[in-house]
Amino acid sequence: MTPDTGTQPRRHPSDATLLAHAAGTLGKAHRLVVEIHAESCSDCQGAIRAAERVGGLLLDELPPTAITTGALELCLTRLETNERLPSSRGPERSTSHDEAWSALLKGGVVLPPELQKLRPRRIRRLAPGILHATLFSDRDGRLHVIRVSPNVALPRHSHPAGLELTYVMAGSFHDESGRYQAGDVGEQPDCDGSDRAHSVRADPGGDCICILATAGRLRFENLLPRMLQPVLPF
Ligand SMILES: [Zn+2]
Repeated sequence: MTPDTGTQPRRHPSDATLLAHAAGTLGKAHRLVVEIHAESCSDCQGAIRAAERVGGLLLDELPPTAITTGALELCLTRLETNERLPSSRGPERSTSHDEAWSALLKGGVVLPPELQKLRPRRIRRLAPGILHATLFSDRDGRLHVIRVSPNVALPRHSHPAGLELTYVMAGSFHDESGRYQAGDVGEQPDCDGSDRAHSVRADPGGDCICILATAGRLRFENLLPRMLQPVLPF
């Protein structure tokens, strides 16, 4: 069960996020969500290509600048270090772990190719009807997979630490801004920059499975999730 690539998604990352993607300033978790969405979205592919062309023209206008000795080696070392981060702790593989992973993706859900080489570090039932795994994290953000049973809601929250992108792999959910279906991306804070708290609830009819990129910690409005936050992945 993968998004029908013949259907254009209806909800997209904001122009600011697409520009940041084209400029290479998004962290890895958020970049992956944009790339996965853009694979089935010709509108966003076009917007990213246009932004990259503009960026290239601006770079062409800049005078050449000398770089310091060893800068290339330093850059390559950093890239290598960053690329190692996701796997450096090593996945804890076990039969129960594999079973949990199967439970998370049951129903024929296939991870996008970009994510298939990533292994979940930990798969947990956060609450009845909510199954979660972290796929990747670094200093810029964290990439999650979450499976929510029909009509189950996540605790109401806002995003003071930064951008949240939610890509729908299967099923659908809704919040105060509307409904999101397979292939769609939800973005918070809104494109106008206002960080409104929202309540995310899976729609009836089937489990909703999403890939979620977050930055920092969410702010929960209710006391119970706030008390549990030290052991929550958000
Ligand atoms: Zn799009």
